[in-house]
Amino acid sequence: MSSDRDYCRSKASRADLSDTRPLVESRRAARLPERIAQHRSPQLALKVAPLDRAKFRDPQRTATGALRASVHLRSLDTLWFNTGTLCNIECRNCYIESSPSNDRLAYLKAAEVERFLDEIASGGWPTREIGFTGGEPFVNPEIVPMLSAALERGFEVLVLTNAMRPVMRPEIREGLLAVRDKYADRLTLRVSLDHHTRANHERERGADSWASTLRGLHWFVEHGFRMCVAGRTCWSESEEAMRAGYQQLFDREKIAIDAFDPHALVLFPEMDERIDVPEITVDCWGLLNKSPDDVMCASSRMVVRRQGAAEPVVLSCTLIAYDPQFELGPTLAAADREVRLNHPHCAKFCVLGGASCSV
Ligand code: SF4
Repeated sequence: MSSDRDYCRSKASRADLSDTRPLVESRRAARLPERIAQHRSPQLALKVAPLDRAKFRDPQRTATGALRASVHLRSLDTLWFNTGTLCNIECRNCYIESSPSNDRLAYLKAAEVERFLDEIASGGWPTREIGFTGGEPFVNPEIVPMLSAALERGFEVLVLTNAMRPVMRPEIREGLLAVRDKYADRLTLRVSLDHHTRANHERERGADSWASTLRGLHWFVEHGFRMCVAGRTCWSESEEAMRAGYQQLFDREKIAIDAFDPHALVLFPEMDERIDVPEITVDCWGLLNKSPDDVMCASSRMVVRRQGAAEPVVLSCTLIAYDPQFELGPTLAAADREVRLNHPHCAKFCVLGGASCSV
């Protein structure tokens, strides 16, 4: 039997306003607080409730002894490649700790990406989309051949980028334009813009990051790339106010993005594994009126190569890169297995936050 230590006291999804009513109802049914909490800054929240160290220790059971929830791979819709954790900047709350010096996840090579694309074909996986994330994918010297390999095989391709200097190097711009000429309708660039004001964006991403990202955004717009924006929800603003703020920015900058479209402007819940969060038990699915099939690891996996490793490995998802519990094997076939939700991100981002890296 679960206790309130296990579920549902954290924030609910505001990724889609229309989703909040069923969530409130499920909270009411579970006798849990109905209010959809305003997001606090991680720093504030940490002062209120640091993570209970008794939680997330046993893959099978929660701290109260309840059976921990797990997720099976329903269908490999999206395969992510982490191109390496190196990045040109160091954001304050980067979930994967990317920086100009963190190379714990090494640069993937185009040949390694192709090997997994081959496995998708030979294994008959129903994969629709290939995602590239980092670090900053455009610092990887083989990023353009990797994009081309995925696009040539007919996949939708999504690349997460800060749109800063690495993208603006002449050889990358040239490569991207060539890719656009052949596959414009299947390539999407998702640009990280943490807030609609320069001050808050630069609080996360450092001085001078705003102008550089806007330059990149404008270059993508001018050259006809399909594009969307990712923001964060750590600003104690309602979702409506956030979207209105982004819309004003896009209008002012003449960037044709509808900030009220949740696919065009994706707002992600914060992840901070130091903050207390309920554990997810098997009972939570019913109480929250959610299905394990809706969680990201039911439909995606991520390939990484660890520094010093001879071969890449497949992880359960994009969010947990360094915890060996979530490393599933060297091939997609090996990674076709159950994932125990034994990490704070599972609760905060996926089950209660309702977010997915691919929307
Ligand atoms: S963080 Fe989310 S996607 Fe990753 S293993 Fe946990 S529930 Fe699955």
